[in-house]
Amino acid sequence: MQKEQDKTVSLLKDELKKSYPDLEAVYAKTDIFVFEEKVKLLCFHCAHYNEKWTCPPRIPNLNYEKIIKEDYSNALIVFTKMKVEDDNFEDVRRQSTNMIHKALLHLEKVLYDNDLPTRVSFIGGSCKLCKNGCATDKCRNPYQARIPLEATGCNLIESFKKVGIKIEFPIKEYLYRYGVILW
Ligand code: SF4
Repeated sequence: MQKEQDKTVSLLKDELKKSYPDLEAVYAKTDIFVFEEKVKLLCFHCAHYNEKWTCPPRIPNLNYEKIIKEDYSNALIVFTKMKVEDDNFEDVRRQSTNMIHKALLHLEKVLYDNDLPTRVSFIGGSCKLCKNGCATDKCRNPYQARIPLEATGCNLIESFKKVGIKIEFPIKEYLYRYGVILW
């Protein structure tokens, strides 16, 4: 079992290195994830609340803590660090989310092709796949769109601290984006 798991982690890390060399990855057990109601409250105060099909309050009302910590055992945290200049903040926000998003979809396919069809991923920041903003009637890419990890009520700061990843605010020179794939 452990051998099988190590093999899967190596496979994902190798794929990431090959296809997304700028991204980094850290393996974790899913029991590191911390869930808090206050994180959901902060979503309500986001300027984009109720705008995206993959953000609250439009996401399915599921027990995400149970899904993430009990239905899955393994997580690969995938992240990027991008330099922020005075005039590029919006571009960096979009590029970083989309890069993580595309990498996670790629890794999902790798797991699917390796007999792990129930894998799933959560992105960092709201879905930005559509260039001109989220569709008004329904999601244009339901097979590709993914929910941001923070939208599930997960406190990323407290969770990732447990595997040595320190998230600091305010954002100064660099923007970090984090997503996760579970199996
Ligand atoms: S894929 Fe497009 S329509 Fe669907 S959630 Fe993302 S931005 Fe919105």
